[in-house]
Amino acid sequence: MRLFVVLALALVINFPVFSSTQNSWQQTYDMLRAQDTHDAFEFLIKEVESTQPSAKRVYIGATLVRTALALNKEHNLSALINYDNSEYDKILKNLVSALNSAHNNEYEQTMQGFKQAITLAYTIEDPALTATVELFFINAKITLANYIQLDHHIKEVERNANILKKPFWGLNSLHNAKALNANFLGDHAQAIETYKQAIANSQYEGNKAPYYNNLALTYLEIGNYTDAVKYLEKSLALRKVQNNEFKVALTMLNLGIVANKAEKYDTALQWLNQAHQYYVKFDNTYRQAYTLVQKAKVYTNTQKIDLATIALERALSKISLTNNINLITDIRLQAAENMRAIGQYEDAISQATLAYNLSSNVSDKTHLIHSLELLSELYAMRSNYEQAYKLQSELVAQKEQFNTHKTMQAMLALESELEVTAQQLENIRLEKHNNKQLAHISQLEERQQFQAIIILFSLLLLFISLRGYSKHKYRAQHDNLTGALTRSTFLKVVSRTAVPAIGKQHCLVLFDLDHFKQVNDVYGHPTGDIALKQAALLAKHFFGKSALLSRFGGEEFMLFLPNLMQSNNENVIEKFRVELSKLPIETESGETIHITASFSTYYYKTSPQSLDKIYSKLDVALYQAKKSGRNRVVCAV
Ligand code: GH3
Ligand code: MG
Ligand code: MG
Repeated sequence: MRLFVVLALALVINFPVFSSTQNSWQQTYDMLRAQDTHDAFEFLIKEVESTQPSAKRVYIGATLVRTALALNKEHNLSALINYDNSEYDKILKNLVSALNSAHNNEYEQTMQGFKQAITLAYTIEDPALTATVELFFINAKITLANYIQLDHHIKEVERNANILKKPFWGLNSLHNAKALNANFLGDHAQAIETYKQAIANSQYEGNKAPYYNNLALTYLEIGNYTDAVKYLEKSLALRKVQNNEFKVALTMLNLGIVANKAEKYDTALQWLNQAHQYYVKFDNTYRQAYTLVQKAKVYTNTQKIDLATIALERALSKISLTNNINLITDIRLQAAENMRAIGQYEDAISQATLAYNLSSNVSDKTHLIHSLELLSELYAMRSNYEQAYKLQSELVAQKEQFNTHKTMQAMLALESELEVTAQQLENIRLEKHNNKQLAHISQLEERQQFQAIIILFSLLLLFISLRGYSKHKYRAQHDNLTGALTRSTFLKVVSRTAVPAIGKQHCLVLFDLDHFKQVNDVYGHPTGDIALKQAALLAKHFFGKSALLSRFGGEEFMLFLPNLMQSNNENVIEKFRVELSKLPIETESGETIHITASFSTYYYKTSPQSLDKIYSKLDVALYQAKKSGRNRVVCAV
């Protein structure tokens, strides 16, 4: 949720709003902006021309450029301002290129441009200039969803603004930034108050649009969709009047996002499609991709995973990796969630891993945290608790780091959220542990009963010979139907087996009959039983006496092949796979049918890892064998 809001807020690029108590150019600009953005734009062009090199010119110039970007006029940015050789104009030039990069979501370039502008600005001792440059930096950081150290920059603006004798021109813009920051820190009440205040203070109706928009996004974050829609619609109406298509598209995008959250999926798609049309018209591929990702989220919620995947692929094809790491990471995360929704956990893990790798190098940690959450959950679902725990520890560390920038309140909220996640994981683990214990206890009980029986009948046994006893033991250790070892006996024997001889290796093979349910469904359960028996018999004959065969589950078997030569082993399994597929099986009705199986193999030369771990690996590889078409062997790693 947080990640999403940060992204959504990142899309809100506000025009700086000016205090109406100030000089006339601000009032004129304010009025024009409320009516028609294009008029305001023309006004700024004239204003920057007639202003001497100064902090004010930097402010007007940068505002002009932001307006140009908002009006989709980035093609002739360089022609907008006639720069002179003053230090002020050098700063303005850096600022302009940084703002352009921020608009295109080019993270590194943006930061570099601002670094230069800020360094230069600090060499001139002019608090108005420092406050101006810092203020635009704050806005760019918000655009890029980088809230780290935002507090520090806000304080810098305030400190410098306080030194000024007259009110600072960017004061309202600063309030807006403060409200966004309050939102980020989780203090939504503060943010709502600030926006409502700003709406009340706006002299012109049209200038309320960005506040309505941001207020709506705040309501979105606290789950109040009714008010979110209400204020977005107010904002949309104003922006249509203002002839500001870029903002119209943005508001439609936000309406789509809110509708999705409110589970009004058809409405969501309608808004998103409209926004998408605008972005096609603007030729803005970044926003096209962003809109497609939002569409994918709607499709995921409505379980149309195919459509979601197509939307994500289209999004990926629109943008380049280097400049859009955040968005690409979001796409990967969304794809991972899609895959999880349809039970393709391995694919989900690989998508989430991509997201994790991408987000590791980005300073904003929201995606990294999301990736870690998803990955650890997926690994836990795949019973890979060790990996899940490892990721959880990293998650805790990342969240702690993240929290150092937060207020106490936000920190508490996050902490309790975190506790829940860790607790849930712990529960899964305990449950598994309990199950194991229960199994262990019932085994012990069985054994005790078994011993009691033996004691009770020992006299009898003495008389009847030991054959009966052996038979009993045999039954306890073997599967009734196939005669293969039971799972627990097999694991006990394998775990006690000596390490491979020098130059040899042991091998574990897991195999599962393909589409076995169909065999039962089409030919009847007794035929299924016959097939199981025959398959087990073939395996025993094929691999010989030194091998151990176990029926691990319904139609899943495990083989232990000790002391194999270290080469050409895959061929043995491969031969068996082919043999099995040729094995004629007679159905109840006298027909002959064939079955196949999918295999995974695991080789080891020294004492093995825990069998649990090996089994997890085999399980993963078997899943791959199934997924890639069945009737094949996949080597586990
Ligand atoms: P896949 O290739 O993906 O493994 O598909 P599948 O149908 O083989 O796997 P699934 O898990 O869907 O179904 C396994 C079936 O095996 C369902 C169950 O009825 C059948 N089965 C399990 N144990 C026995 C048994 O002892 N006898 C018979 N006849 N069928 C069994
Ligand atoms: Mg099967
Ligand atoms: Mg199965």
